[in-house]
Amino acid sequence: MHNAAFRKLGINSVYLAFDILPENLEHAVGSIRHLGIKGINITIPHKQDIMKYLDEISPEAKHTGSINTVKNTEGYLYGHNTDVGGFLKALEVDLGLKNITGSSVLLIGAGGAARAVLSALCIRGVKSIMIFNRSVNKASAVSEYFSARFKNVSIEFYQLSNSEKLKKCLGRSDLLINSSSAGMIGHESLDLPLQYLKENSYVYDLVYNPRETELVKSAGSCGHNASSGLGMLLYQGVESFEVWTGKKAPVDLMMKALIKN
Ligand code: NAP
Repeated sequence: MHNAAFRKLGINSVYLAFDILPENLEHAVGSIRHLGIKGINITIPHKQDIMKYLDEISPEAKHTGSINTVKNTEGYLYGHNTDVGGFLKALEVDLGLKNITGSSVLLIGAGGAARAVLSALCIRGVKSIMIFNRSVNKASAVSEYFSARFKNVSIEFYQLSNSEKLKKCLGRSDLLINSSSAGMIGHESLDLPLQYLKENSYVYDLVYNPRETELVKSAGSCGHNASSGLGMLLYQGVESFEVWTGKKAPVDLMMKALIKN
């Protein structure tokens, strides 16, 4: 999507992928400065470790504890987390959810993507977040991290296999979010008792491959407004593009490029 956008705006740039081993991360970041690379995205497993090699971190990225975008201005490296804004924009555009302040949210997953979602939910002032994760120790760690930073948000955590708790929490959720890898092509799908989900609640699945996940299909057939994660992928990319270039991103064209690939 970035190469399509560069071509459209006549920007003489190219977006490439590099595999970096953890032991080479510091040198790789040094190369960004020395080679004059204008910007990067960074993904698993480096989203947290890279922070110590940058010159400055945006407030959203600080809250989240991870970054996914770096802008290089003459050797000064500034880290952003555009997953936070990308997630909020996708809720607005794909679910019509502009205001989540005061909502109760059930979040499945406690990995890197969950941290961006938690940051967005806390910044927007949701009332409560119920985290369910396969391994409870990771849920406990993210819960502790965000509870310490956002004292006004009530954050609880449970093991995903605790089906009685899950049913109860579904019944008080205005928004259900899947930020786990379950439901991705090649992974098993979540088997949630959606009949317990509060009436008229919204469902957002960060998984975008397949384009329509089993969770989104089931939630839709139970009458919930549901969307999978392609919109978040697009809007985090749009925000990164605008950070790097200072120009308005050609959003429709970027979406077309995403769908084509
Ligand atoms: P991650 O850091 O590796 O975390 C994976 C999470 O999924 C963990 O909480 C893990 O639980 C859970 N999980 C894995 N398999 C599971 C299963 N079979 N049942 C229940 N839980 C399971 O990965 P991530 O970066 O957070 O990414 C998670 C998903 O979000 C991926 O599908 C990714 O493509 C998607 N994502 C989408 C966007 C977007 O723009 N739409 C952005 C980022 C990520 P344990 O802790 O127990 O291992």
